[in-house]
Amino acid sequence: MPINSILRSTEITKILLDQKLENGGTAVDATMGNGKDTLYLCQRVLPNGKVFAFDIQENALNNTLKLLKKEALGTYIGSQIHCICDSHEYFDHYISESVDVFMYNLGYLPGSDNSIITNPTTTIKSLDLALTMLKVGGIISIIVYYGHSGGMEEKKALEEYLGDISSEEYKIFQGTMPYNDHCPPIIYMIEKSRQKKQ
Ligand code: SAM
Repeated sequence: MPINSILRSTEITKILLDQKLENGGTAVDATMGNGKDTLYLCQRVLPNGKVFAFDIQENALNNTLKLLKKEALGTYIGSQIHCICDSHEYFDHYISESVDVFMYNLGYLPGSDNSIITNPTTTIKSLDLALTMLKVGGIISIIVYYGHSGGMEEKKALEEYLGDISSEEYKIFQGTMPYNDHCPPIIYMIEKSRQKKQ
């Protein structure tokens, strides 16, 4: 039987985020896709917490709702789980509380139209909001895939953006597996270490 490696960007990200998620917390999946990350967040913060999940594709929303119902979380949909068919640049239209964890998994929806990809302008607009909505001690995780067309532009824009973030307010971790892949995914973790001085 093959051993399921923990050295996958999605698994490493969850191991780190586990430290920040508990029952009662508020979490956001910025790129819902097929709902695997939404499910993970729900399993960590429910029954008392809240999860908001965003995607611009209706089939992502449908796949996620189906997965959540299959995993017996259907009763929480609409009260504590909010799956929203809209761009993550509009977080503030839907979320009024401060947030423990934001998860971004950039790129295209596996098994779907791979021309619908996350885009540097909206990703960065949404990160601007996420930084202000994040609790002190909270984390934004971002996995960047850049092997597809348009991926390299997004990677570059993100690197520039992260380079300009205040190191007094935020700590930033970067991780990748350079020996295993041609364009290995990159994990970024942004932790808010203190609130901006007014
Ligand atoms: N986390 C997902 C999962 O577990 O299945 C995979 C996410 S997939 C790599 C990226 C997703 O981002 C796609 O489903 C795509 O439709 C979505 N997306 C693209 N632009 C977006 C935007 N502006 N706002 C929210 N989602 C967006």
